[in-house]
Amino acid sequence: MEVPWRKVHSWHCTACGLCCNEYLVPLRAYEYLRLKWTGFVEERFGKFYIKKINGKCPFQAGRFCMLQGELKPIACKLYPFKIRKKGNEKAEFEYKGERFYVYVDLFCPNIVLGRPSESLKRMIVEAIQIHLGERRDVESITCRKVFSVKNKAIM
Ligand code: SF4
Ligand code: SF4
Repeated sequence: MEVPWRKVHSWHCTACGLCCNEYLVPLRAYEYLRLKWTGFVEERFGKFYIKKINGKCPFQAGRFCMLQGELKPIACKLYPFKIRKKGNEKAEFEYKGERFYVYVDLFCPNIVLGRPSESLKRMIVEAIQIHLGERRDVESITCRKVFSVKNKAIM
């Protein structure tokens, strides 16, 4: 279940890895090509994903993710945020004069509902910048130690 960002006070990642097991990670075409050599990615009907091996992401080692930096899929970097071009007004978020619709997936156990904190707003800006390709480094979203994300498509 997801809610508009205006209903969320804060979030932090404890690298529990739950989302990595739960969801199927969608890849952008260039991410698929970059990881194809691993044998752990697949194409299904023109869309690209990380394969599930025994129900898990093959890049997860314990609570850690083997894909760091540039290699980490955008979907993993953005989780639990979902950024869309359409949505309801409670999900509206303006960035550089452009309107986005931001939702938060409540599957993550570390989401606190309430009035949005300033740190949450900063995370959303960072998520939009990553979504747009304006930045590649992750500062406040996702866990620094590990990662996250998903047998259901997350975007
Ligand atoms: S984002 Fe994923 S890994 Fe991080 S706390 Fe939430 S469910 Fe756990
Ligand atoms: S963040 Fe999780 S789902 Fe994404 S590649 Fe790393 S282990 Fe896999």
